[in-house]
Amino acid sequence: MSKAKFNLKVYSERCKDCGICFEFCPKNNLQPSKDGSPEMIDPEACTGCKLCEYLCPDFAIQVYKDEEGKKEQKETTE
Ligand code: SF4
Ligand code: SF4
Repeated sequence: MSKAKFNLKVYSERCKDCGICFEFCPKNNLQPSKDGSPEMIDPEACTGCKLCEYLCPDFAIQVYKDEEGKKEQKETTE
C-alpha cells in the first residue's frame, strides 16, 4: 500500500528565492528549480509537516496531499 504523498504548489511570482524553505525542511527535501523557486526532491519523503509553507515569508508555497493520498483517506460513512 502506498503512503500518502505530498506535493507543492509554488507561486513563483511571489518567491524571492530566499532559501528559507530549503534550509528548514526537516527532510532536506527541497531544492531550487530552474527559476530558483523550490521543488521537491522526493514527494514520498515529504511528511506534510508544512514547515516550508509556514516559514515562507511571502506565502509562496503550499503543501497539499496529492490525489492518491486523498483517495486513501476516503470517508467511510456506513
Ligand atoms: S512539508 Fe515539511 S517535509 Fe515536506 S517539503 Fe515542506 S518542510 Fe519539507
Ligand atoms: S521560503 Fe518562500 S520565498 Fe523563500 S525560497 Fe522558499 S518559497 Fe521562495
